[in-house]
Amino acid sequence: GVRLQTADAFILGTHPLKERDRIVSLLTRDSGRRRGVARRARGARSAFLGTLEPMTEARVMFFEREGRELVSIDSIDPIRPSFPLSKDLERALLLSAFAESLETFVSDSDPAEPFYRLARHAMDSLFAGAPPPAVAAYFDVWILKLSGLFPSPAECAGCGRLLEPKTTLYFDENRPHGEAIRLTDEGAATLRTFLSSPLDPQARPGGVAELASVARRARRNFLGHELKSHRVLAEVLGA
Ligand SMILES: [Zn+2]
Repeated sequence: GVRLQTADAFILGTHPLKERDRIVSLLTRDSGRRRGVARRARGARSAFLGTLEPMTEARVMFFEREGRELVSIDSIDPIRPSFPLSKDLERALLLSAFAESLETFVSDSDPAEPFYRLARHAMDSLFAGAPPPAVAAYFDVWILKLSGLFPSPAECAGCGRLLEPKTTLYFDENRPHGEAIRLTDEGAATLRTFLSSPLDPQARPGGVAELASVARRARRNFLGHELKSHRVLAEVLGA
């Protein structure tokens, strides 16, 4: 049968389907990543206009047919549109990076409550004016952590070699996985705070930068490549 459902969701991205429709990728709270068809979503008079920007949070009504992955989207009512943030280039690129990371690391149809909470917290922080590099590093550390991919200090995240206990070395000096990465005391303290608390907008930039580099390496190491949005972000910001 066909069921009408309502779900809160973050818009992760869209791509064109046929002449007038779009496929919309969503992060829902209860059923992970979903894909739906938004009919007549292309063109200047579409009812979906202004609702499909990455990381817009919305209430989505859709029809779900048993046994079908793709749902049919009836309406999207923004709870919090992301466009006020995208007036700033760095924040705009960050929205794409969040969306691409969620698209990559959240699996289809599994409950995604922790990922949803992370997305909400990152967006709350950006809207509250937290520095984008801190929000980005916090998000990157946590999405890897929730995926079971954040390195443990007990072994090299590149080659798996066991490291001395209590070390702050995340990648050893073995090639070919690149240079060693060792957290300074500031980096280690920032990591402890990240993992135990909501984002502190005053997080020290040095510690933030170290964690960003561990997360970047761990992500690249797992995927075998860097995410497209992160490459653009790095090029534009010279990070
Ligand atoms: Zn190694």
